[in-house]
Amino acid sequence: MVHSTWTNGRLAELYEDCRARYWSNEPVLRSYRIERGIGDPAQRGWDPDARVIRIDPADHTSDRELCATVLHEMAHVVAGQSAHGPRFWEQIEYLLEQGAPVMLKTGELSGCGATLEAPIPERFVLARQAFEPDAGRGSGNQDGVRSRATGTGRKRRRPYYGE
Ligand SMILES: [Zn+2]
Repeated sequence: MVHSTWTNGRLAELYEDCRARYWSNEPVLRSYRIERGIGDPAQRGWDPDARVIRIDPADHTSDRELCATVLHEMAHVVAGQSAHGPRFWEQIEYLLEQGAPVMLKTGELSGCGATLEAPIPERFVLARQAFEPDAGRGSGNQDGVRSRATGTGRKRRRPYYGE
C-alpha cells in the first residue's frame, strides 16, 4: 500500500484534479478549499459554514483510501446534504459510473458524522454493489452467503442499507 505525505498543497492538487475530472460544471466546489484536519475528529469532513473540507491523512492506510474520502466529502458538497440521502447517493452513483475510486465501507460511511440510518435506495445499483461492510459489521452478508451455500433457506438478515 502506498501512503505518501499529504501536505495541504498536495490535498489541494488532488481536490482540483477530482473537481476538474468529475464536477467541472459544479461551481459550488470552486468556493471550497481542502486542508489537513488533524486534531479534533469532530472538525473533519465538510464544513458548509467555513466552506472547507478537512481530511486527516493519518486516518487512511493508502492514497486510494484518502482519495475515496475526498470524493466522498466532495459528493456531500455537491449534494448539499450532510446525510446520506438520495442526493448524496446520486453523486456516488455518478462517480461509480465514471469509474472513480469510490470506496463504500461501513467505516467510510459512518466516519463523516452521518450515520448508517439512511438506506442506499434500490435505484442506485452501482452503489449497492460497491458497498463493502467492514469485517464484523457485515454479518448480514455472510449469513446470506452461508444460507445460499447450504441451501437451508434461512432468512437473510437485512443489510443495513435496507430496501
Ligand atoms: Zn458521508
